[in-house]
Amino acid sequence: MIQKDVIVVGAGAAGLFCAAEAGKRGRSVLVIDHAKRIGGKILMSGGGRCNFTNMYASPENFLSDNPHYCKSALSRYTQWDFIGLVNDYGIAYHEKTLGQLFCDNSAKDILNMLLKECDKAGAQVKTQCEITDIQKTVNGFALTTAHGDFACGSLVVATGGLSMPKLGASPFGYKVAEQFGLAVKPTRAGLVPFTLHDHDKAVFADLSGISLDARASCNDTSFNENILFTHRGLSGPAVLQISSFWEPGQAVEFDLFPNGDLHQELVSAQNQSPDAQLATALAKYYPKRYVQTALPYLGLDNKPLKQYQGKQLQQVSDAFHHWQLKPNGTEGYRTAEVTLGGVDTNQLSSKTMMAKDVEGLYFIGEVVDVTGWLGGYNFQWAWSSGWVAGQVV
Ligand SMILES: Cc1cc2nc3c(=O)[nH]c(=O)nc-3n(C[C@H](O)[C@H](O)[C@H](O)COP(=O)(O)OP(=O)(O)OC[C@H]3O[C@@H](n4cnc5c(N)ncnc54)[C@H](O)[C@@H]3O)c2cc1C
Repeated sequence: MIQKDVIVVGAGAAGLFCAAEAGKRGRSVLVIDHAKRIGGKILMSGGGRCNFTNMYASPENFLSDNPHYCKSALSRYTQWDFIGLVNDYGIAYHEKTLGQLFCDNSAKDILNMLLKECDKAGAQVKTQCEITDIQKTVNGFALTTAHGDFACGSLVVATGGLSMPKLGASPFGYKVAEQFGLAVKPTRAGLVPFTLHDHDKAVFADLSGISLDARASCNDTSFNENILFTHRGLSGPAVLQISSFWEPGQAVEFDLFPNGDLHQELVSAQNQSPDAQLATALAKYYPKRYVQTALPYLGLDNKPLKQYQGKQLQQVSDAFHHWQLKPNGTEGYRTAEVTLGGVDTNQLSSKTMMAKDVEGLYFIGEVVDVTGWLGGYNFQWAWSSGWVAGQVV
């Protein structure tokens, strides 16, 4: 039986960060992962450039049944602390948009930094190691694994959510929570493209690759970014963002002229070029291919502008400002960036991430019912929750 002070299960963002922090305090730390290659999500993230944090990260950017839970960790280890570490390692980065920080070169820079931090702190990482049993002991926990038996005083569960099973995602963390009597909030895919009903899919099939500025709204929440038609459905940042707020069966409203008043624009176009067709006027703002598809889809005629009378231009404008779409569903965990729901925060200490009723058992990162928006927030939660636990395990 190999004894460690701390065993972290899951060598992802939260687990590696926590392990390094605990190691720096002189704790003996072992990180166990069942995957062959670790940090898979880090390497894939941000299109290979890892959007590692957001300059404007704050508790408002997170979804949870208990929105207060994340506040303590986010304030004790902030985005500026992580940016400081990235600077210390000389990793070049840039702000892409909306405070989102990406590596200039590669997400590998972030994974290498985490591995170096672990190495410096003496935290070991064991890969391809399945854990088959966990038992509570007088002094902590006993683990049975494919590589022998281990014991530890503190057990940190950092196995992430269910998205992207190909990258090693598993329900392990939820099962451990249930084994020790902790509730798990229902999980579902978040930050995920929408799939469409057959009718919409057939209409939009030819628009694959077109992106539009839009404000997507659902359940009193709006995101002003762009949407992207794909051969499978609808994606793009605004869609991914709103997917986390959408419930099956609901409609999403898209304002396809989010930064102005389309009615006013059409009225001026009518005054200036009364003989121009509506499609020509709209092509000033949208790709032609989109206009050709959108007009019949939205039930609008294409006539010379002078023929639109009374409220007719207002109706055209309303159709673009208030496009209601009922998605068929989402692409699910296969392509989702995150998992909503998870270990119930009411049963965890927000100061330490330890289960209130199970001494020595910690949950950090995405396995917990804290989910960030798109834009570097999910990694910031991994760093903040990992750091907090790392100070006490
Ligand atoms: C394609 C993609 C792109 C993303 N891009 C971004 C981005 O740019 N910015 C951002 O902030 N967030 C992004 N995210 C979300 C972010 O990657 C996650 O929120 C974050 O990685 C969660 O960290 P974690 O440590 O909790 O879990 P993970 O990083 O998922 O790590 C969990 C680890 O646990 C291991 N594990 C699972 N089950 C077991 C088991 N039974 N036994 C042992 N080990 C196990 C896994 O192999 C994995 O190594 C992206 C996600 C995806 C899928």
